[in-house]
Amino acid sequence: MNESIYSIPPHLLSAYRHGDWVVRTDEPASLPATLAAEDPERVVAVQLLALAADSEALNAWAPGLPIELVMADPASEYPLLYRHTNLLDKHPVRAVVPVRSGFLKAIKVAVSLDFAVRLELGQPEPPLIEELIAALEFYLHQPTVAQPVEFFHSMLLGFYHDDPLPLWSVLDEDPRYLRYVADDGAESLYGRLATGGDAAVEPDTELEGWIERGLAAAEDCRSCEFLRSCGGYFKWPRRDYDCSGVKRLFGRLHAAAMELRRDLDAAPA
Ligand code: SF4
Repeated sequence: MNESIYSIPPHLLSAYRHGDWVVRTDEPASLPATLAAEDPERVVAVQLLALAADSEALNAWAPGLPIELVMADPASEYPLLYRHTNLLDKHPVRAVVPVRSGFLKAIKVAVSLDFAVRLELGQPEPPLIEELIAALEFYLHQPTVAQPVEFFHSMLLGFYHDDPLPLWSVLDEDPRYLRYVADDGAESLYGRLATGGDAAVEPDTELEGWIERGLAAAEDCRSCEFLRSCGGYFKWPRRDYDCSGVKRLFGRLHAAAMELRRDLDAAPA
């Protein structure tokens, strides 16, 4: 087993003297003082859970430390992103946008402010597939998009180089490394893997093997042309999820990557 990364609240850090930490907080003002006594090498990222909070205390603290702005309701919270633009002076900053109705507006505001984006996908139903396709077209064709929008960015590159990464890795949900420590100290797998699905399937050092045993056992996945890029991601936790919509998205990304490859091959040396 590789060194684990724990998503952990500040008040439990003293109990975790192993692994690395993604510290999540809704009180950024007190974070530098709280972490002053901790090993800074262990902190690999901070997640800010309350976008209404004032993040000024983090602006010049720990330069270079990645910070994620975690949204709960993107359709109503996107104006709050403006509050945190000063973080960009010293930190790589990414907005975490759940795929819920109205999330495209949050993507547009985030990239206009120069934040990268990580989508939280879940198992999107048809109306959200249409919004995802609109988001992908925005990402592919809007010249002002200068920051990666994940998973679009990594999947496009994976198709382009014929070297795909499964969505579990692209979306920072790799079950080999990530653990979630709840506010009461209970430890579990990270994110949606903590609930539903076949929790008895223990991840190990080989992601491919884990996917094969735990997720992609679904017949649909075995014959799916996108298995290497997806990794059975959408068959969790409901195995009967209809992937026709996400396959449209993957197909569009694949076509864009092939188009890009053709254009570059045809360009003068
Ligand atoms: S798109 Fe659906 S069927 Fe294909 S690998 Fe992913 S989860 Fe499995």
